[in-house]
Amino acid sequence: MKTQQQNVLMDWPLAVELAAFMANGVTSSDEEMLRAAEDFLARVGHGGATFGIEAVALPDGSEFSYLNAGDTYALTVVCIDGECVATTWGDVYEQAEQDYEDETETIRCGYCGHYTEHPDGVNWRDVVCESCGHNVAG
Ligand SMILES: [Zn+2]
Repeated sequence: MKTQQQNVLMDWPLAVELAAFMANGVTSSDEEMLRAAEDFLARVGHGGATFGIEAVALPDGSEFSYLNAGDTYALTVVCIDGECVATTWGDVYEQAEQDYEDETETIRCGYCGHYTEHPDGVNWRDVVCESCGHNVAG
């Protein structure tokens, strides 16, 4: 969403990489780091390309925050535990979900979202959700 008045100094992928790098120099909260990243993006011609700071809760109860770039898989600045990286929040979430399933030997029900036990040797498509009774394949 660039306006015609803006002078784009660098393309989006490079701008996001640099914004994450700059934000890591801010010794403050994830929110302050993301504000710094958003300010940087505006200074290099991408003002209005992000829509504020969003937070996502992870299955293990922790959360991370990111600059909303309009799409789950849009490249943006994501901040996790005081470190900002250029990635998509969808990729971060999927990886965390996979890690959680591996650690807890569960699988997320595609029907209700409950993490249900996934016994060894059982094809995930055959797992029945212990919460809603549907097949986890949805
Ligand atoms: Zn379920």
